[in-house]
Amino acid sequence: MGALNKIRAAGFNIGLTEAGDIAITPAPKLTQRQREFLKSHKTALVQELKAEPLTPDEFIIINWLTYLGEKDQTIIDEILERCRADPDELAHFLIRARAKETNSDTFITCRTCKNFQSFNKHGGGSGFCQAHVQPNGILWWADTRHQCYKHFKKR
Ligand code: SF4
Repeated sequence: MGALNKIRAAGFNIGLTEAGDIAITPAPKLTQRQREFLKSHKTALVQELKAEPLTPDEFIIINWLTYLGEKDQTIIDEILERCRADPDELAHFLIRARAKETNSDTFITCRTCKNFQSFNKHGGGSGFCQAHVQPNGILWWADTRHQCYKHFKKR
């Protein structure tokens, strides 16, 4: 059994962060021995994670990004890595991707996005997008409903 499967078999979710580091949940449940195992197998784990074939869920997300016209492989990889590292992110993107298949509402607002920087203390109204979805200098409104695959859900 490879290092990756051993970690998963022990009940942990594991993936890569955007920076290429290992992300694991629930991290507080790791024993000291498991932490040492992760440390000593880090290179192998990163290689195994990078070589993983796409899962059916990831195919759904890639199809959705294609439908939205995304062709930038860096952005696609970044979204997949976020989904692999965090089950909540995966669920979030799957809901939006599946909503497209059923023609239901996939619109979100900037207010719920970590990338939105409001100009107001209350967090609403006008602001700007730190992910540069809009060019610099263009205002974006917290409650304008739109589609945006760079939406990064606030916790
Ligand atoms: S990434 Fe999209 S949803 Fe988030 S602030 Fe920018 S435009 Fe709004």
